[in-house]
Amino acid sequence: MNSDKAKKIIPVIILISAVVIISLILLIITRHKKNEEIVAKIYYENSVIYEVDLSKEDDVRTVEVELKEGLVIKIEVKKDAIRVIDAPCKRKDCMKMSWTSSPNKPIVCLDLHYMIILSGKSDYDVVIE
Ligand SMILES: [Zn+2]
Repeated sequence: MNSDKAKKIIPVIILISAVVIISLILLIITRHKKNEEIVAKIYYENSVIYEVDLSKEDDVRTVEVELKEGLVIKIEVKKDAIRVIDAPCKRKDCMKMSWTSSPNKPIVCLDLHYMIILSGKSDYDVVIE
């Protein structure tokens, strides 16, 4: 009689454990993804003129960004990284910096007064405050 009860209870216990384990794994995955989100912002004379979530990029993609009328730079974005491929500046320092995927390595152009700054979405609020 005891073993009969056990036979009925065991599948229930297994099912409950499976559900708990799956939800824990999902929770860990979504948290991990949230921390990995990288947002690139292009600032021109202290205002954000372009914003892109690099964590959502799949392939390499070229984007033309107009800093102001008649002043266009060409950037390339891919998964978690961004670079400048064409800019009408003299020194081309922004292009020489190549790919960046770190908030510690912003792209700064002293000639055209624009910069590209990366931030993780999770620490975005902290940066603004
Ligand atoms: Zn430049």
